[in-house]
Amino acid sequence: MNIAIDIGASKIAYTALFDGREVNHKLEIGKTETAESVFQRLQINFENLLDKNTLAKTIAVSSAANIDKLGVIVGWPNRSDWIGINIIHWLKQFVTEKIFWCDDGIAGTIADSNTLAGNYLHLCLGTGFGGGLIYNGRLVGESELGHLVVQANGRPCVCGLSGCIQAYVSVGSYRKYLEENNGKDEYQLTQQWLSDAIEYTAAYLNNMCRFFNIKHVSFSGGLTNIFPNFISSVSKSLETMYGINKQSGLVLQQSPYKDNASLHGVKLIASQGVTDRLVCSNNGTPSVQCFDLRIRSIEDHKRDIPNVGNYG
Ligand SMILES: [Zn+2]
Repeated sequence: MNIAIDIGASKIAYTALFDGREVNHKLEIGKTETAESVFQRLQINFENLLDKNTLAKTIAVSSAANIDKLGVIVGWPNRSDWIGINIIHWLKQFVTEKIFWCDDGIAGTIADSNTLAGNYLHLCLGTGFGGGLIYNGRLVGESELGHLVVQANGRPCVCGLSGCIQAYVSVGSYRKYLEENNGKDEYQLTQQWLSDAIEYTAAYLNNMCRFFNIKHVSFSGGLTNIFPNFISSVSKSLETMYGINKQSGLVLQQSPYKDNASLHGVKLIASQGVTDRLVCSNNGTPSVQCFDLRIRSIEDHKRDIPNVGNYG
């Protein structure tokens, strides 16, 4: 049995993959809920999921959180209270062989490899702007996709730069725009934000698609739920502003897995592992990190179970 987990800022979705059957669960996380409380609930859920004597063989996790080589969360702007937690150490109690850890945008890109061929770009537009690029059959480093600058001296970005695409095209950017203009007409603000977001996305895709000869762009994440016409509007803008359309060989579409693209990607990783072509290095950290536990016995894992609230 293998487990795939998608850890988001507002919910954790996971799937237990048995031979020929799946069990799916979802855990909503409250805005102010502490990490300790979330881990307590997860602990109970996983213990119920697993038979007393059976552990998962592999666990694959997708998340926007960054971890270091030891498994400690070192960065996660949306859940800063999780920083410092050794999440791999905590997961070890449920697994015998391997734990994979993967950026959620990369997981969505891997999910699309089931249905898309050739050079393609997966954009995960949620709180942030993430995704992955498959170029000549290989994954290209993802960590900067949301931090390509589309406007000189533009809006400040969480990364410290100004004018990044993420500062214009993400749910986080939309919420921030409304907050900063609080008191003004929300409908008009939304129209203005959306019109900018569409133009910047079209300009961004014009550059990416020409440079990497991309044939497909697929979208996942919450932004396309809030704005269901976003993809078709970007398509139109690409055509009118840059002369790029279906006839010239570019198709924009929603990922077939929609909001579940990341979870689906880690389901593939949990059941099949990951091939070299889907691993690239982002500033020295592999896009899919693998923690191989097979040198340790199950007894070791049992001794390792940490106390709740003390993960470091
Ligand atoms: Zn940035």
